[in-house]
Amino acid sequence: MICLTEYMNIDIATDNPAFPSMPVSQADPLAGYLAHQVEIDAAIARVLSSGSYLLGEETRAFEAEFAHFVEPDAGGQQVNHGVAVANGTDALRLALQACGVGQAAGDVIGADEVIAPSFTATATIAAICQSGATPVFADIDLATYTLDPQCVRAALTPRTKAIVAVHLYGHPAPLAELQAIAAEHGLHLIEDCAQAHGATWAGKPVGSVGNAAAFSFYPTKNLAALGDAGMIVTHDARVAEQARLLRMYGWRQRYVSDIEGWNSRMDELQAAILRVKLRHLLEENARRQAIARYYLEQLADLPIGLPVTLPGCTHVYHQFVIRSAERDRLAADLKQQHIATAIHYPAPVHLQPAYAQHVRGRLPHSEKAAREVLSLPAYPQLTDAQVERVAAAVQHYFEQRH
Ligand SMILES: *Cc1c(COP(=O)(O)O)cnc(C)c1O
Repeated sequence: MICLTEYMNIDIATDNPAFPSMPVSQADPLAGYLAHQVEIDAAIARVLSSGSYLLGEETRAFEAEFAHFVEPDAGGQQVNHGVAVANGTDALRLALQACGVGQAAGDVIGADEVIAPSFTATATIAAICQSGATPVFADIDLATYTLDPQCVRAALTPRTKAIVAVHLYGHPAPLAELQAIAAEHGLHLIEDCAQAHGATWAGKPVGSVGNAAAFSFYPTKNLAALGDAGMIVTHDARVAEQARLLRMYGWRQRYVSDIEGWNSRMDELQAAILRVKLRHLLEENARRQAIARYYLEQLADLPIGLPVTLPGCTHVYHQFVIRSAERDRLAADLKQQHIATAIHYPAPVHLQPAYAQHVRGRLPHSEKAAREVLSLPAYPQLTDAQVERVAAAVQHYFEQRH
């Protein structure tokens, strides 16, 4: 048994003994809404009748509350600034530009290089390109699926301006080593925290370590809007100020652009919904961790790669990812039993046609990961019975396969 306390506010369980194979989805944004429906509906009603729909009171409150959540010292004073934007891709793009990376005024487009993993959401690389910089791919460590510092060193050139550390699946990238490389070479360290709200490294929340961090609140993330939303978090007041200008046409004063900016605003509905969801983030992350502990126990003896958590880190299991050379057969077998899985990601970015021009060498670990990873259902609203069924189905596959 998983031994979890009763978690959900309402009963959306789908495990009726009369239908033992009720489908298990891989992600369920609707369940994320229904779990807090009363609070969310009240927040939405409040915004609808406020007459303010973009970058208003709700957005300002959410910026302060989320930036506080990412504070490195929970008991200390607030040092973080939050700049709410339209989505996570924009958050990363504007974080880079606010640090002066990419297309600063008068710079040649593509002159600045930014080192990043290829085994990530395409959004990471799209944001680097949109900032006006050139992405340079570095390979990953196969245990944590995050940047391998040796590969980052090998990718350095005199044009390197920044490193983007992606905390993939909810596990922190090796920040000590990346900080050391950044300090040695005068680089910006930008954290892509789109999958790691609430993960910690050396006792600090991710997003509080680098020069700036980008968060996404896409509907399946650990902290999820009911639409698109994102945020830049930084302890550097100048970076925050720059990001604020960049998100709305470079305006300090209405209708006067001081710098060339963009339109990337958060809407009040999403901010109000996210304020509700933020209040439940820690309990939902704890539920993800309980599900992960159960999978780790139940799947321990199988010939598969399981997620690891390095000392000094907490993992928030945005995805629970296993690795197997038989990945496709296992996924097909689970699908037959109405258990959905997903592959994050089937093609590393350097093997996608649009980004082939940036390839400088092979990335064997990224390519192997793309062939072998499989994300099991692990979202917080899964019932214990569903989690047990998933684990049993994976065990069964390996018992029966020969
Ligand atoms: C989701 C995601 C993004 C982009 O966020 P959007 O809000 O979808 O633009 C960036 N990086 C990573 C690692 C992500 O998972």
